[in-house]
Amino acid sequence: MSISSAEKCKKKFSFEAAFWLTLAHVGALAAIPFFTWPAFAVCMILLFTISPLGVTLTYHRLLTHRSFKVPKWLEYILATIGALSAQGSPLLWVAEHRLHHKYSDTPNDPHSPRDGFFHSHIGHLFYVKDHHCEKVMIRYVPDLNKQAYYRFLHKYNVLIALSALPLLYLAGGWPFLLWGGFMRVTLMLHFTWFVNSATHTWGYRNYETRDQSRNIWWVALLSAGEGWHNNHHAQPNSAAHGQKWWEFDLTYRIIRGLRFLGLATDVITPVTAKSTIKSILISPVAVMAVPNVILPNVSLGLAALDMSSVEPLTVE
Ligand SMILES: [Zn+2]
Ligand SMILES: [Zn+2]
Repeated sequence: MSISSAEKCKKKFSFEAAFWLTLAHVGALAAIPFFTWPAFAVCMILLFTISPLGVTLTYHRLLTHRSFKVPKWLEYILATIGALSAQGSPLLWVAEHRLHHKYSDTPNDPHSPRDGFFHSHIGHLFYVKDHHCEKVMIRYVPDLNKQAYYRFLHKYNVLIALSALPLLYLAGGWPFLLWGGFMRVTLMLHFTWFVNSATHTWGYRNYETRDQSRNIWWVALLSAGEGWHNNHHAQPNSAAHGQKWWEFDLTYRIIRGLRFLGLATDVITPVTAKSTIKSILISPVAVMAVPNVILPNVSLGLAALDMSSVEPLTVE
């Protein structure tokens, strides 16, 4: 598998990334002696609100894969919640995840365990892309980059992520600041990173995709349903990642709730007939023909396929 020179990322060690990652973990350790039950409750409430709504529902299933639609005003509110997660702007998060799907578990995957578990979990984050690379990554998100609000969230991403800290301090002093801020962010980061590391290493497979994706129940519980990652790689555009009756998927429950309220439409449901899935997986042409693949030039869900036979990225 090859990647054009225009798509190669020049990677370099980032002291800025190292600073923020170290600060988050030191802050989380510092939170332990400040434990109070109210502070712990704030941490859990924010964790299991911002992560499912902002990251898994919005950054991943809505913005990356367009698994459903919501009104634009709601999409922007949800994306702003995602920006509070300290996982980066929607532009770069979505771009990197689309790259992951396009090059899953190949040398061009941004975070494959084939380069080591540590690399896939956190190590790759110490090596951010230079300006040229960022410009390249923007090419993977033409749908978002043309919207001024997403450029705003990208430009002020750090300020937005930090904005919760003074509010938490005013609400409950150091216990709220450390638990609702640093502990919450650190736990949330690791829960998300387990999707990149653990679910490409351990677990079971419902589908014989060509990547190393797996399903793991405890990652699914921690990440609001993202642990059913093999199901997701097999059907990237499906709003539901859990497919067996025991594969609980909190994020899909929320999407169904939004649909019940009339706030979510065009919800893409999984293809359940295994024979149909197999026929999709062996034919890139068949996948390109699957309804609701809304960005035909951006390979959102072709990780399971032989990419050499798929149209290269041509978005400008
Ligand atoms: Zn994956
Ligand atoms: Zn995905």
